[in-house]
Amino acid sequence: MRIIIIGAGVIGVTSAYYLQRAGHQVTVLEHHPAPAQETSFANAGQISPGYAAPWAAPGVPMKAMKWLMQEHGPLRVRPKNDPFQWQWMAKMLANCTIEAYQRNKNRMVPLAEYSRDQLKQLRADTGIEYEGRSLGTLQIFRQAKQLENGRRDADLLAKMGVAHELLDANGIARTEPALAHIADQLVGALRLPNDETGDCQLFTQQLADLAAQLGVVFRYGVDVLGLPVKYGLIQSVQLSGETLNADAIVLAAGCASRQLGQLIGLDLPVYPVKGYSITVPLSAAAKEQADLAPRSTVMDETYKIALTRFDLRLRVGGMAELAGYDKTLDPKRVATLKMVAHDLFPHAGDLTTASAWTGLRPMTPDGTPIIGATPINNLWLNTGHGTLGWTMACGSAKVLADLISGQRPEIPTEHLGLTRYG
Ligand SMILES: Cc1cc2nc3c(=O)[nH]c(=O)nc-3n(C[C@H](O)[C@H](O)[C@H](O)COP(=O)(O)OP(=O)(O)OC[C@H]3O[C@@H](n4cnc5c(N)ncnc54)[C@H](O)[C@@H]3O)c2cc1C
Repeated sequence: MRIIIIGAGVIGVTSAYYLQRAGHQVTVLEHHPAPAQETSFANAGQISPGYAAPWAAPGVPMKAMKWLMQEHGPLRVRPKNDPFQWQWMAKMLANCTIEAYQRNKNRMVPLAEYSRDQLKQLRADTGIEYEGRSLGTLQIFRQAKQLENGRRDADLLAKMGVAHELLDANGIARTEPALAHIADQLVGALRLPNDETGDCQLFTQQLADLAAQLGVVFRYGVDVLGLPVKYGLIQSVQLSGETLNADAIVLAAGCASRQLGQLIGLDLPVYPVKGYSITVPLSAAAKEQADLAPRSTVMDETYKIALTRFDLRLRVGGMAELAGYDKTLDPKRVATLKMVAHDLFPHAGDLTTASAWTGLRPMTPDGTPIIGATPINNLWLNTGHGTLGWTMACGSAKVLADLISGQRPEIPTEHLGLTRYG
């Protein structure tokens, strides 16, 4: 089949790779001059199936009220004159029940675990390098209440067969020696040993090169402007001054998926949830000594900020702002990231040399991505990966490639599609 993919973020590029490998003839259309220039540019670097959970969780509405009052709280809401913002928040709140949380988590964890396994296979097949590490995630708790929630999460992980361990101060210092100086101020931690890390942008760029070698055509600097539908099929893909034809089209346009969907009457519940990151070059001392920078990802539960070690850099990312499509860098949010980095790893790097970034997570109200067919027979979706697009990319792309190729996916997919919204 001739397949056009809209978007060269981590989701579009992984889709292209798996579809081309399945024997299709793939073209990727991308607005930017290179892959991974939007949300896949500088995320927190976690490949974290163990941490795969929807943000809509029991207790979140109460916590959200508190976070909104805190100077360094992880959440901001900037009300917009946009009914979709309110509808989306209402749907997210409706997903904050125990039943909805468990149902959504049960959909997300198998996809995330499958995705990590696909990534391992991809590494074995191609030797792709992206400053990746396989040393797990350490979620650290500063308050007893957080540890209690961590214990509940551990029970759920045990039921799902996901490896994990609860650690005390000694265990924390053993796992991440650079936290030894602060370990006695922490009440505990949850370690997810099978989680991985890596630079998502580097991965996406490297995979785009590998996909191009397999025959995928990448067209950069082009905008998809129209998708005219006739007889239940997209007839063509319209660019400025050019029309392309394909047997199937995949929408992998991140936060722009909603607007593109609207062109053809699809109401995709994908809202842009803004996040921030800083990237800090490691100090000369931290490059030499193992106890100055983290070895892997440390997730600070109090601020919901993840700190991930790349080869010679520290990436610090987090925050959630419901503020529409605005990508202004708020210096206060950057200051919070620096404050947490300094608190946990004071000698890892010079924070005045950090580069700051903001990106919009393409988020569904139930936290689960939307993968699969649509009412338009030749249109497929791979979007709405929210907080976990890097974690879920390879699995989502493989599932999509199987569905389009008429193969049975290796994990259940019936609840990943658009039909779950009725
Ligand atoms: C601060 C932050 C931290 C994060 N940390 C993590 C993490 O640690 N682990 C994790 O798993 N996930 C993380 N994420 C989430 C992850 O980064 C996203 O889920 C993922 O990057 C989404 O990828 P995507 O390909 O769907 O979107 P994008 O990367 O945004 O790609 C979509 C592409 O479509 C293109 N496009 C859109 N419209 C058009 C059009 N009309 N024509 C042509 N091209 C078009 C865009 O230019 C863009 O390049 C984080 C996100 C943020 C913001």
